[in-house]
This record gives sequence, C-alpha cells and structure tokens, in this order.
Amino acid sequence: MLGLMQNQPLLISSLIEFAARHHNDAQIVSRRVEGDIHRYTYKDLAARSRQLANALDGEGLEQGERVASIAWNGYRHMEMYFGVSGSGRVLHTINPRLHPEQVAWIVNHAEDCVLCFDMSFLPIVQAIHAKCPAVKRWVALCDADKLPADSGIPGLLSYEAWIAPQSDRYHWPQFDENTASSMCYTSGTTGNPKAALYSHRSSTLHAYAAALPDVMCLSARDSVLPVVPMFHVNAWGIPYSAALTGCKLVFPGPALDGKSIYELMEAEGVTFAAGVPTVWQMLLSHMKPGGLRFSTLKRTVIGGSACPPAMLSTFQDEYGVSVLHAWGMTEMSPLGTLCSLKNKHLELPKDEQMQILQKQGRAIYGVEMKIIGDDGKEQAWDGRSYGDLLVRGPWIVDTYYKGTSPLVRDEQGHGWFPTGDVATIDADGYMQITDRSKDVIKSGGEWISSIDIENIAMAHPAVAMAACIGMPHPKWDERPIVAVAKKPNAELTREELLKFYEGKTAKWQIPDDVVFVDAIPLGATGKMLKTKLREELKDYKLPGL
Ligand code: AMP
Repeated sequence: MLGLMQNQPLLISSLIEFAARHHNDAQIVSRRVEGDIHRYTYKDLAARSRQLANALDGEGLEQGERVASIAWNGYRHMEMYFGVSGSGRVLHTINPRLHPEQVAWIVNHAEDCVLCFDMSFLPIVQAIHAKCPAVKRWVALCDADKLPADSGIPGLLSYEAWIAPQSDRYHWPQFDENTASSMCYTSGTTGNPKAALYSHRSSTLHAYAAALPDVMCLSARDSVLPVVPMFHVNAWGIPYSAALTGCKLVFPGPALDGKSIYELMEAEGVTFAAGVPTVWQMLLSHMKPGGLRFSTLKRTVIGGSACPPAMLSTFQDEYGVSVLHAWGMTEMSPLGTLCSLKNKHLELPKDEQMQILQKQGRAIYGVEMKIIGDDGKEQAWDGRSYGDLLVRGPWIVDTYYKGTSPLVRDEQGHGWFPTGDVATIDADGYMQITDRSKDVIKSGGEWISSIDIENIAMAHPAVAMAACIGMPHPKWDERPIVAVAKKPNAELTREELLKFYEGKTAKWQIPDDVVFVDAIPLGATGKMLKTKLREELKDYKLPGL
C-alpha cells in the first residue's frame, strides 16, 4: 500500500522561492572582483535567478544542457546555482586553479554550452575558447562597462547586459527530482578527472542534512561565510542550505588572504565559517601577531583535509570558537561525517573531549559507512581496527558522468562507494581517517599514518605546514620523512623537530629526516599535493643510504 501524502518533487527552484517568500530581506553580501562590497537580499537573488533562467531559455538551451561557471564565491555565482539548475539545466562549476589544458578538457567532456566567468579568469578563457567549440555563449560576470574592448572571445557578453532585458517572472519547470542539477569534477590526481553528477533530490536532501544541529547547525540567526569555494563541491552545499534556512550569507570573492577574511568577518558579524585547514592557517597567522580577536564568530567547520589538533585547540582555547571537523568527498556532495560530542561526553575531562573532537566524526543520517580489511571482511568498530572506508547513501555517487560505476557490491547486492580512505571507527561510531590509502606509509610490515606525523609537526610553534611522505628503504620498505615549511622568521633545526617527536609517537614512527622547503605544494582545492612533493623530492636519499 502506498502512502497518501502529496508527491511533490524536491527541486532546487523550491529552495530559492522559499527563501524569497520567507526570508526576503535577509542579506547576501559579496566582495566583488572589482574590490567593492555588494549587498542585496534573497528577494533580489530570486528575481535575478529568474532573469537568468529567462536568458537561458532565450539562448535556446534544452533541459539537461550544461552551463559552466569559472567564478569566485559571489552573488552572481549564487544566481547561477538557482537560475541554471532551477530551469532544468545542469550547473558545471569549474575549478579555476586547474591547468587551462585540464579546464579545456573538462569543458569539452561536459559538453558545456554556455560558460560564465569572473573577469579574473579572462586569461583562462582566452587560452581555452578556441579549443572548446561546443560553447556557444561566453559570458563575463560583470557590468557591461567592465568588458574589455578587445577580449578576442567571439560574441562575449557581460552578464548584466545579458540578463537586464529579461523578465524577473518565470515559471520554474516541474520535473522528476532525480533530474541532474549540477556537476563537479574530482581533482583527478591520477588520470583524467571524473565527474559526480548531482540531482535535485540529492542536493535537496543534502541541504536539509547539512543544516542539522550536529552538522552545520545553520539558522536564520546566523551570518555565514563560506570560504570554501563554490567550485569545490558546491561550497559544501552551503548555498542550498542557506536558502533553506534564510541565514545571512557573506561571500569573500577573490580576497582569501587572512586580513581580508578577518575584516569581512568582523564587518558582517559572521557567526559561522567553513573552509579547508590551509585557509584557517592564513587567518590565524594574520590574527596572532596583532592580538586580534573575533567579536561574533562562534563556530567553524574545517574539512577537506585533516584538521591539525593544534589548530583545533587554538580556535577553541584561545578564541572560544567551536571547531567542527568534517569529512567528505566530491562523490559525496560532499558531507559524510562531522565531529561533535554526544550527551554522555559532556562530563568528560577537557583533554578526553579533545581526543574525540580530533576525529573526523559521526555519520550524518543518510550516510552509511563501514570499514573492510584486505580480506573484504568488515572490521570491528573498536577505534583500533582499520580498513578501507566504504559508504552508501542518497547523496553519494552511483556512476560517474559518462563513466563507470565505482561501487562494490555486498552479499545483499547493495552498492558501496570505496572512498580510497583508510579509517577506524570506534564503538560510538566516530570515524577517524588514518590516511588516503595511497599515502599510508608501510614500514617493516606496519602502517604509519602520515596524518599523525604531520599533526605532531604542526603542533610545533615554528611550523607553518608539514607533509609526511614515505621514502623507499631497502630494509623497511618505506620510511617516513617530513617536509616542513617554517613560519616567517621562525628558527627550527632538523634535530629540534625530531626531538619534538619524542614521547609523542612510537619511536619507530618518528620520521627519519626533516626536509625544509619554502612551501608545501597545494592542489587546486588547497589540499597538500603529495604527488608534486614526491616529484620535487625525487632525488632525495634517506640519511645513511
Ligand atoms: P575531494 O573530493 O577533492 O574533496 O577529496 C576528498 C578526500 O579529501 C577524502 O577522500 C579524504 O582523503 C580527504 N579529506 C576530506 N576531508 C578530510 C578530513 N577531515 N580529514 C582527512 N582527510 C579528509
């Protein structure tokens, strides 16, 4: 027997119309590429998203056709989130930090028909437009008077001139909630990038989940600053959850340095922010020397790569800001787990609470997870047994766009997505990532977690960033070394750092060497790029070999 409730599809257009009706005067503030601050409301956002939908109809775009963005976090990009997906097209957010050759490859692979870009990325578009013949409309996200006279891009329009003649009335089409809404290519450290193709259903369910109290706890009382880019897995779903809750939104545009982020937070009363550890590292380095304090920030979600415990305690103890450590992936929309205490932990001593909060956290309802050993058998949830982490759920990839399904089947035939991460899960369901399976260091038949080794180095006051990699060793197979970028003007020797490890980890896990580097190479989403580091250190030899 079927239930007798209304069968209304979960569509992204309903999010923006909800926000326009119930939070019409809540603000969306953006630092623009031009440098100034732009301010408007959800009502304006909805009206302009409808104008954009009309402009896309005017271009003759069919349902399901792809519209790409190469843009910072800002209001025009937000309009694309709703105008493109809401009208039944697929928003393809492109990471501008990729090499232009890679950008051209993914534009062609996605078969993008329209490409909208911030003027900062004009050089990328100039480099690729001739190689992307399927793009029939190039749009610069700016006012008409900001268009360069001679861009070399045929038919280039300014976004404002493009949408200005369009009506702000639009009948959002109704369709199956499983229809594709947006897509994001993985960073693709090996081979060509692969795309996750999200649906209206997956994005809407994820938006509900992301707003939950033990997840991001978003509400109409918050002022939210997503530093995480809108080209990195839909800014972790924040644009959708923001429309769902009616929180104030603050977009940083291109200014991602510590000073600009700090000033924006203070000026706009930001209560909640989200970003990868490298961004928060820059913010803290800006604040510390001048003794600056946060006046409104209460919570921050840190994810995308492991949050060093030293960063967690700095935020919590020195600034009174709660840190939510989060784990997820492009293939997971992206949220999988977040870390917060349970009721029974509230009476624990502070250091025991910190031990828990360092983990990647508990699964959100909607995400099932398990760890399996080399024999394919599920490992115990005892906080010690580790294995490959597998997940399943309604916002997790089933099949890659134009690709194959990565899922592995269990005895019941359920498909599980292999994350490529190695993890433990404790009896309370807290998951902790040990490593990416390809980064784990195998020494004398035992595993060393590169994350653990990095976290210890990061707790040293002279260290700005640390990356641990395994080096070939004739006897042990691999031995760890740690590459370190020091803080400006900080003094630190190899011996001092190795001594710092003593007592903090098993003796055999202490790195064999410290290599000082100017900077740790970062990938397109601000994560450490160990492949590049290994390449840079290809002639390196372990001491004594
Ligand atoms: P991406 O799809 O580019 O967002 O990368 C996903 C990968 O980032 C995951 O499979 C993890 O290896 C890593 N990752 C994300 N969040 C965390 C975290 N909190 N701690 C450790 N690794 C993380």
